[in-house]
Amino acid sequence: MNQSNKEYIRFLIESGVHTLLKETPNNHHKSNEKPENINPDDYKKNLHEISNIKDLIFNISCHETPLKKTANKIVVFDGDINSNLMIIGEAPGKEEDEQGKPFVGRAGQLLDKMLEAIKLKRENVYITNVIPWRPTNNRTPTEDEILEFLPYLQKQIEIIKPSYIYLLGTTAAKAILATPLSLSKLRGKLHKYKSLNLNYTINVLVSYHPAFLLRSPNFKKDAWADLKMLQQKLNEN
Ligand code: URA
Repeated sequence: MNQSNKEYIRFLIESGVHTLLKETPNNHHKSNEKPENINPDDYKKNLHEISNIKDLIFNISCHETPLKKTANKIVVFDGDINSNLMIIGEAPGKEEDEQGKPFVGRAGQLLDKMLEAIKLKRENVYITNVIPWRPTNNRTPTEDEILEFLPYLQKQIEIIKPSYIYLLGTTAAKAILATPLSLSKLRGKLHKYKSLNLNYTINVLVSYHPAFLLRSPNFKKDAWADLKMLQQKLNEN
């Protein structure tokens, strides 16, 4: 198959086409010929070859996981791919799963308000999650699931190259800082993130997840202090 045909088929796969029909239909009563099935694995790039979010989303969507069977839509990111701030949550909930966008439910509305309070707009930051598919009944992702999707999250960081990463909740902190420490120990200080493919470190701040703040409003005071620290750090840049 020549290169332009391959690109055309890749385009079809990304547009949701999974089966190609020949111009002349097969007569399955007469022969054993089967319609040509596309194997998306033939068209996905290796993770180390990927340098843009579109290819990465295609790659993630090809990754086989039981989560895919119960979820509706893949949820990778929302916002600005050129932002210097990346916000990382846990995993999509019901609304996110329906809309294919992170943080659009109640927790997302609180996140929007938190960002507005430090003069940031959702469309100017890059928002993502550790896990791109909704776990059933919004359960917390397992450690295996976190590790399974970590290479994709690390790749997003390498592509976006933010100056700051803001981690919301323990799942994001576990994934990026590889620590079992509680949020109360991690928040309020600057951490550094580095992966094998990055030749510099990225500043990381940690805070409470908005869904937790909805359940435990007493922690909003600490979350506000974390936001002010984020604002101050971003302004120093
Ligand atoms: N909680 C998250 O961690 N991420 C979302 O996208 C929504 C809720």
